Amino acid sequence: MRILEVKNLTKTYETDDNHYKALDNLSFSVRKGEFVAIMGASGSGKSTLLNILSTLDFASSGLVLLGNEDLFQLSEKQRADFRSQHLSFIFQNYNLLGNLTLQENIALALTVKGHPKQEIYQLVLETAAKLGIEKLLAKYPHQVSGGQRQRCACARALATSPDLILADEPTGALDTQSTKQLLTILESMNETLGTTILLVTHDAIAASHCQRVLFMQDGQFVNELHTKDQTQKESFHQILELMGALGDDAHVS
Ligand code: ADP
Ligand code: MG
Repeated sequence: MRILEVKNLTKTYETDDNHYKALDNLSFSVRKGEFVAIMGASGSGKSTLLNILSTLDFASSGLVLLGNEDLFQLSEKQRADFRSQHLSFIFQNYNLLGNLTLQENIALALTVKGHPKQEIYQLVLETAAKLGIEKLLAKYPHQVSGGQRQRCACARALATSPDLILADEPTGALDTQSTKQLLTILESMNETLGTTILLVTHDAIAASHCQRVLFMQDGQFVNELHTKDQTQKESFHQILELMGALGDDAHVS
């Protein structure tokens, strides 16, 4: 079953003296339960795409179907509701609220989604346990490590059982060890809970944990790799090769 369908998506940024096509007639789809990476050098259009899928920005033309909803047909209020009901986000800089504890940060997403109050605490505990941060729930973001903050952001993303998790460079600020941990967590969320994840990254290691990798250049998809039936290490080397074939240095940026 398809959860996301993008058709002929184009985004043009108008500046004073020219217009710039950040997305150029892009089409792709994601099936329910897939873990897909979008890779590309800095400036290739990854964040522009994610912002549109997140309902935070509009395209210049084209279509996005998420579930059965045509995103560009929704009113402002419907977009906000759709976001809290169906989507979750993980960002490079965690986006946790600094004046709330980890527990309160996770609970907030559930409150916004409209979960019954009496269920929220239990759900926060269960999700935190899955991510190994149950002992840190009373702490504030500045009292825990970057890796732990990102696990909290994952817990917040996961707690609401979203249809789709959109992650923009989630490992970008993490050291190697925390990166590995986070990728293992995302993989197991995908495998055991069937969570659909779209991961935007310029990190070949991160992409090598996904089932499918789409390569983006100048706002277009120029290649696609299916990593099924091969080890993570094999995928990693293939990704490096394909990045090299693009003729840029994205894998070292
Ligand atoms: P990525 O996330 O892959 O690094 P972006 O989607 O952020 O790429 O940007 C794609 C291209 O669009 C870049 O060339 C960038 O300079 C341009 N761009 C992004 N946002 C704007 C904007 N608000 N106005 C004008 N140009 C923009
Ligand atoms: Mg970006």
